[in-house]
Amino acid sequence: KALERLQKILAAAGIASRRKCEEMILAGMVELNGEKVTTLGVKADPAVDVITVNGKTIRSEKKLYLMLNKSKGVITSAKDPQGRKVVSDFLPGIKERVYPVGRLDYDTEGLLLLTNDGEFANLLTHPSHHVPKTYRATVKGVPHGTALEQLQKGIKLKDGMTAPAEVEYHDVDTDSNEATITITIFEGRNRQVRRMFEAIGHKVTRLKRIRFGELGLENLARGKYRHLTPVEIKELL
Ligand code: URA
Repeated sequence: KALERLQKILAAAGIASRRKCEEMILAGMVELNGEKVTTLGVKADPAVDVITVNGKTIRSEKKLYLMLNKSKGVITSAKDPQGRKVVSDFLPGIKERVYPVGRLDYDTEGLLLLTNDGEFANLLTHPSHHVPKTYRATVKGVPHGTALEQLQKGIKLKDGMTAPAEVEYHDVDTDSNEATITITIFEGRNRQVRRMFEAIGHKVTRLKRIRFGELGLENLARGKYRHLTPVEIKELL
């Protein structure tokens, strides 16, 4: 029997963070095989025991970990009230409900992880977990080296200074007066890369995430997904 603590099972089922699940147990919201549990430390086997939260049975589905090469013009959410394309439209054959690990803007393309393992998603998106994320940004104009150095050291945005980043030129096109720059950030604020370049006076015209932690997009075609390997999943944590 594979026994695990209740809060761990609940968190893995995507109910909430492990801490929040502990609070839910203490608040008397959780039952195990029909009996209310109000202390921490109780263990169960998610494959055989019936666990409910507020009377609703949680299902422990097979864990899925996917990588999608998101196209631009796609929303990182399960549904869009305006009927625009959403990432789940690009997961044929996946019946389970999976959640994006962080977000990519509508106009940003590239590597997006999706999973039904809520605990895994919470861990990777927690601010204290500084997963490096690498982007290729095409910008209007050619930023000076000193401007890029500023991005590297940290730059003031309206929500505070950014943490140090790694920045390098990838390509400079003098004909179109555009530059392509590779930037790695260790945070994940809203529209962060676009805002960082705006702060040095360069508008981002194309943005693609090419790495997330140890994972690269490699030759995954645009709009396609694949399952992560067990080794890849371990490396992320
Ligand atoms: N930074 C952005 O500006 N947009 C994204 O989608 C991701 C990072």
